Amino acid sequence: PEGTVVLTAEGVSVTHGAITALADVSLEVRVGEIVGLIGPNGAGKTTCIDALSGFADATGTVTLGDHRIDGLVPHRRSRLGLSRTFQDMSLYEDLSVRENVEVGTFTAGRGDRADAHDLDTLFRILDLHDRADEPVGELSQGRKQLVSVARALAGRPRVVLLDEPAAGLDSTESRWLGDKLRSVRDAGVTIVLVDHDMDLVLDLCDRIVVLDLGRIIATGRPDEIRTDPAVIAAYLGAA
Ligand code: ATP
Repeated sequence: PEGTVVLTAEGVSVTHGAITALADVSLEVRVGEIVGLIGPNGAGKTTCIDALSGFADATGTVTLGDHRIDGLVPHRRSRLGLSRTFQDMSLYEDLSVRENVEVGTFTAGRGDRADAHDLDTLFRILDLHDRADEPVGELSQGRKQLVSVARALAGRPRVVLLDEPAAGLDSTESRWLGDKLRSVRDAGVTIVLVDHDMDLVLDLCDRIVVLDLGRIIATGRPDEIRTDPAVIAAYLGAA
């Protein structure tokens, strides 16, 4: 139900040799929220998504619903309902939108359950229904981003982690993407959003977690984050 905690990280850290990419991060995501994860370049945002989804070697505890999922390989986390996108989108340009998205249903182990009807509903929510049979290589950057989101949603996850879905979009396209992500949330998927587009993040997110140098420096509503001195200092320091 709306408002219950669905994803928890407790004391999650990731090191690469001598570099601490993520240091003792704890956070909670509630059902129906869109939570933003922001911070300057190199702050650890992608590393945090990697740690939650199982793509980075992390210490600490990660819980999805009733399941401890730290220590599980990515596809097992995905089968339990946690999926993600990648910054480079990793799409097959020669395959159609539908074929690219079908890959996601198999990754989530739900090839049997994601029938054509599910995919058509998903395509309608993301405004991809007229493009379903087009090769991805012929789509705009904005639509490619949506295909990448659709693939992550195809296995009907409870929580989806989006890594820079507005990358390469202008402000109009980014607002358009924001509308689609709101529809995704309204369809019952909880969202964690990493993005550099501050207008998108501030407009869309219920709550924002700010990372700097691998640590959480602030958590709050957009209006709190916008005026937080530590956040302003972190961004100015990085400029
Ligand atoms: P950006 O906004 O630029 O995508 P980010 O906030 O996503 O940055 P990360 O990519 O998570 O940041 O990187 C966090 C830190 O970890 C950086 O200092 C980065 O150089 C380092 N790092 C990430 N991956 C590796 C790796 N495989 N080996 C060594 N260092 C890494």
